[in-house]
Amino acid sequence: LTASPQVLPATPIPTADVSSPQGSQPTKRKGRHMIIITKPEASQESLRQLVAEIEAQGLKTTVVVGTEKTIVGVVGDTRRLDDDRLLGHPLVAEVKHISDPFKRANRAFHPDDTVIDVAGAKVGGGHFAMIAGPCSVESREQILEVARAVKAAGAGMLRGGAFKPRTSPYDFQGLRADGIELLLEAKRETGLPIVTEIMNINHLPLFEEVDVIQVGARSMQNFEMLRELGKLEKPILIKRGLANTIKELLMAAEYVMSSGNTQVMLCERGIRTFETATRNTLDLSAVSVLHEKTHLPVIVDPSHATGVARYVKPMAAAAAACGADGLLIEVHNNPAAALCDGAQSLTPEEFAETATLVRAVRGAASSVGAHDVPLTEAACDRSACRTCAAS
Ligand code: PEP
Ligand code: MN
Repeated sequence: LTASPQVLPATPIPTADVSSPQGSQPTKRKGRHMIIITKPEASQESLRQLVAEIEAQGLKTTVVVGTEKTIVGVVGDTRRLDDDRLLGHPLVAEVKHISDPFKRANRAFHPDDTVIDVAGAKVGGGHFAMIAGPCSVESREQILEVARAVKAAGAGMLRGGAFKPRTSPYDFQGLRADGIELLLEAKRETGLPIVTEIMNINHLPLFEEVDVIQVGARSMQNFEMLRELGKLEKPILIKRGLANTIKELLMAAEYVMSSGNTQVMLCERGIRTFETATRNTLDLSAVSVLHEKTHLPVIVDPSHATGVARYVKPMAAAAAACGADGLLIEVHNNPAAALCDGAQSLTPEEFAETATLVRAVRGAASSVGAHDVPLTEAACDRSACRTCAAS
C-alpha cells in the first residue's frame, strides 16, 4: 500500500435499498461476499475510512495487503452495497462477487500464497515442508530413534500419532497423553516442530505445546471441532476425508478460518475409489486444483495414499514435481514390527533416499521456473486453451 497523502473525500459508501421494491434497485448479483480491490494510490488513512464506512453498514471486512494489490474482503449481506455506485467511489478500482462457497480460503481473497511459520519452519509460497515420523508414537526409544533419523535425512518437522483413529476398537489406539509427552521430548532433543492428530476437542489442553494440530481424514467434517480449532493461533493441518471432494476440503478450511485462524494447511492423502491395488487413490490433480482455488499450502501424504512402502518414493517425487508445498511421510525404525501402518512405513534409509530424490525433483522444477507463477483461471488464454474451448 502506498503511503500517499491523499485524503478520502467525504463520500459516504452508497447503499442499495434491499427492503423496498420501490427503492433504488438492489445489486443484480446478490452474493453474500465480495472483494473490493482498491486503487494503488489509496493511503492507509483513506483505506481505514473506507473500511469503517462499509462496517457501518453491518458488514465485516478483512483487508489483505498483497504484493500487487490491496483487497478488502467484505463478508455479510453485501446486497446492502450497490456495485455500480461503489465503483464510482474514488478509492475503488474493482468489485467482484465471490460465488464459491469458500471465501477466506479463496485465492480471490488473498492472491499471494499463504506462508505459515511453524516454529521457524516456513510452509507455502515456495517453502517446502518435509514432515516425517511414525504412524503412531509407540515408545520413547522408537520416537527418539525415528526423530533423530528423519532429522539427519533433512526432515523439517516430526509427525507421530498419539491419538489414533483406528477402524477397529481392538487395535492399538495410541499412547494418548503419554504419546504427546514423548513427542515433546523428541522435539526438545532434536528441535523438530511436532505434528500430531486431535480426535476430540476435549483433549485440546494436551496440545498446548504441539506445533501443528492435525485433523485426520475421519474428522475432516467434524464441524464443531473445526470451529474450536479456528479460535486458536496455531497452524492446523486438515487431511482430506476418504470420500470428500476438493470443495468439501476447502469448506473444512473455511470453518477454521471463519473462526479467525488463518493458519491452515491442506493435505491430499488419497481418496477411496474402486481401485484395490493401493490403499487409496492418490489424487495428485488436487494439488493443481487447490493451488488455483486457494492460497493455502498443500501437503501430499503418499503413505496413506498408497498404503505400500515401495510406492511412496515415486509418489513423493511426483508430488514434488507438481508443486506440492510439502510431504507427510510415515517412517518407522522397524516397519515389520510397527503397531500401525507398517506396510506403508519407510525405513530411515528409505526415507533418506526419498528426501534426496524430492530435493532433486524440486531443484529441477525450480531451474525451469515450473511453479513460479501460481495457477489461476485468469492466467488461461481461453482462445488458445483446449480445455476451456471444450467446456
Ligand atoms: C495419520 O496421518 O496417521 C492418519 C491417521 O491419516 P488419515 O487421517 O489421512 O487416515
Ligand atoms: Mn498412519
